[in-house]
Amino acid sequence: MLTKQAIDAFTALTGSAPAGVWAAPGRINLIGEHTDYNDGFVLPFALPQAAYVAAAPRADGRWRFRSVDLDETVEIGGAELLPGTPGWHSYLAGVVWALRQAGHTVGGADLVLTSDVPLGAGLSSSAAIECAALAALAELNSLDIDPMDRAKLARVAENAYVGAPTGLLDQAASTLCVADHALFLDCRTLDTRQVPLAVTAAGLEILVVDTRTRHSHVDGEYASRRASCEEACRILGIPALRDVTDLAAALDVLPEEVGRRVRHVVTEDERVLAAVEALSAGDHAELGRLMTASHASMRDDYEITETSVDLAVETACAAGALGARMTGGGFGGCVLALVRSDQVEAVTTAVRAAFAGAGVAEPVTFLGRPSAGARRLV
Ligand code: ADP
Ligand code: MG
Repeated sequence: MLTKQAIDAFTALTGSAPAGVWAAPGRINLIGEHTDYNDGFVLPFALPQAAYVAAAPRADGRWRFRSVDLDETVEIGGAELLPGTPGWHSYLAGVVWALRQAGHTVGGADLVLTSDVPLGAGLSSSAAIECAALAALAELNSLDIDPMDRAKLARVAENAYVGAPTGLLDQAASTLCVADHALFLDCRTLDTRQVPLAVTAAGLEILVVDTRTRHSHVDGEYASRRASCEEACRILGIPALRDVTDLAAALDVLPEEVGRRVRHVVTEDERVLAAVEALSAGDHAELGRLMTASHASMRDDYEITETSVDLAVETACAAGALGARMTGGGFGGCVLALVRSDQVEAVTTAVRAAFAGAGVAEPVTFLGRPSAGARRLV
C-alpha cells in the first residue's frame, strides 16, 4: 500500500519511476526505560508501521525531499546543508550531511517519503524516516556501511543536524531489528543480540494502547531525572549507574529520592536481562511479570507515569493480560500489554471502558507485532 503510494508520488513529482523503495520501521521498547543514558540495557522491537522512501539519483547534485503525508516538497543544494535548519526535511537533509561529514560521497537525489508511524507518539517516526533515507542513500551511492554504523549516522543526523539530543536506541532499533525478535542493546558497549519474540506463534499478542496523553512539562522532568542519576554517580564515585554493584549499600548513602531513582535504574537493568533470559527460554509468563514490575518501578520509584497509563496497565492486567507497562520516556504515551490472542478483544474492551468511565479521551489501540528493520522493498 505505502510502497505503491511512495512510487506513485515519486513518479508524479519527477516524471519517472524511482530507482527503488526502502522502508524503516518505528519502534517500541519492550522493557528497559531510562536505562540508556545510564549505560544500561534496552530491549526494543520494530513495529509494523514504517516510513517508506522512494528515491533516485539526480544529475545536478541537489536534493529534493517530499513528504506525501505533509504534502510538502523542499529542494536544497550542497551549500544549504546547514545544521540547525528547522523543518521536517532536516531529518533527511541531516542524513545527507551526516554521511558527508563521515567522508562518504553522496550525490544528489530525489527522495519521496510516506509513513504510517504516527508523529510524536513516542514510536519514533523521526528515526524511521532517517533510517529509511539512510538505507536509500547508502544504496544509491554504493556505500558499504555496516548496520550499527548506519544507526550511528542516523543518530548524528538527529543530534547534530536537527538538534534533538536523543540516544541510539531509536535508530539502532529501526536499522537492526529482525522480524519476530526484540533487539537487546547494551548502551555502553553497543553490543547487540537478537532475542526471539515470536508472540503470535506462541498464541500471544502485544497490544499497544496509545493513551494519546502527552505532557508539556516532560523536558524539565527528564532533566531532573538525569540530574538525579548524575548526582548519584558523583556520590557513589562511579561513571554510570550501570556500575552499581551493591544496591542496598548504595541506598544507604544516597538521599531518599535519589535512592529511589537509582533503584529504578538498577532493577530495570536487571529486569531487561531477566526478560532476555525469559524470552530465550520461551517463558512469556515471566516476561509479563517483568513488564508489570517495570511499570510499578516507573510509577513508584522513578515517578514518570500518570493516571491514564496507570489506568491502562491496571485494567489490562485485571482483564487477563500476562503483564503490562508504560513504554517510552513517560508522563503519558503508550502502554504495552502482553495478552493471549483470544483475550485481545476483552482486554481492549476493558481498557476502553475504563477510559470512558474515568473521563479519559479514547485511546488508540493496535497490535505491535515485532517486525523487520530497515530494508529495500523494490
Ligand atoms: P517521534 O519520533 O516520537 O515520532 P519526533 O518529534 O522525534 O517524534 O519526530 C517527529 C518529527 O519527524 C515530525 O515533527 C516531522 O518533522 C518528522 N516526521 C516524521 N514523520 C514524518 C513524515 N511522514 N513526513 C514528514 N515529516 C515527518
Ligand atoms: Mg523521535
